[in-house]
Amino acid sequence: MKKFNYHSAKDVKEASKIASSSSVFLAGGMTTLPSMKLGLASYKDVIDIKKIKKLSGIKVSGKIITIGATTKHTEVANSKEVKKAIPSLAALAEGIGDPQVRNRGTIGGSIANNDPAADYPSACIALNATIHTNNRKIDAEKFFRGMFETSLKSSEIIEAIEFNIPQKSSYQKLPNPASRYAIVGVYVAKHKSGTNVAVTGAKSCVYNEQDLAKALSKNFSSSAIDNIKISSSGMNSDIHASADYRANMVKAFAKKAVDAC
Ligand SMILES: Cc1cc2nc3c(=O)[nH]c(=O)nc-3n(C[C@H](O)[C@H](O)[C@H](O)COP(=O)(O)OP(=O)(O)OC[C@H]3O[C@@H](n4cnc5c(N)ncnc54)[C@H](O)[C@@H]3O)c2cc1C
Repeated sequence: MKKFNYHSAKDVKEASKIASSSSVFLAGGMTTLPSMKLGLASYKDVIDIKKIKKLSGIKVSGKIITIGATTKHTEVANSKEVKKAIPSLAALAEGIGDPQVRNRGTIGGSIANNDPAADYPSACIALNATIHTNNRKIDAEKFFRGMFETSLKSSEIIEAIEFNIPQKSSYQKLPNPASRYAIVGVYVAKHKSGTNVAVTGAKSCVYNEQDLAKALSKNFSSSAIDNIKISSSGMNSDIHASADYRANMVKAFAKKAVDAC
């Protein structure tokens, strides 16, 4: 029997007040609950944030889409607003896990967890997202710090994620055949200011592939990256794909994404 104190917070202030270095926020529970059940993690306080209304929902305003932290993957996948403004983001959400995971898992939980193979972090980087917490705004580039590491403090709660609507975008991934996490996922987004090529699954943390991004910012065509070699240095290697294979996939999926825009 696992012992912990369960709290259902009525608002962000209450949730943040209870939070400490030995607590966890419960959003979809899709990572937290299996980790606790398997004995990989234990917490003194489990703070349920699902009932905090302000944390959920989708808003479009001008060139920005704002998605509340506890908005579920299935809500993003099926949102008419998201499908219209950033179809690649709705498609990304539709490709996460399975229906059970999409019906429970949340966007805030996904980016707070920062699994190196998760899909949403690549959307945050590609779409120049701003992460709104209960006490500051963080640029996506500064938010994702390393494997399962973000710049969040222990009592800090993500309230919403603000995405810039690009001119064109596409997310392409090679999914793990069991979990659907990205063995390699590449999110290409063309903005007025330039193109981002966000890569997940390949290294210990999501990143913007600078050589591809620079070339595509000059010439948004898949042939523009033909001569760029992606180094496998620092890439993950496991039973699913070697580092060299992942390096090849980064370029192949970037080209596929550009052609799909
Ligand atoms: C079988 C399976 C398959 C999956 N496949 C994929 C996949 O293909 N692609 C993919 O990207 N993901 C995948 N996932 C992950 C899943 O989609 C969830 O996004 C992820 O598990 C975390 O979201 P959650 O809402 O369940 O968070 P929880 O498990 O509730 O919380 C996870 C962590 O985030 C923190 N947290 C939660 N919400 C907030 C907040 N608002 N502010 C601050 N911290 C917060 C918690 O404290 C905790 O540390 C899969 C998961 C499972 C179990």
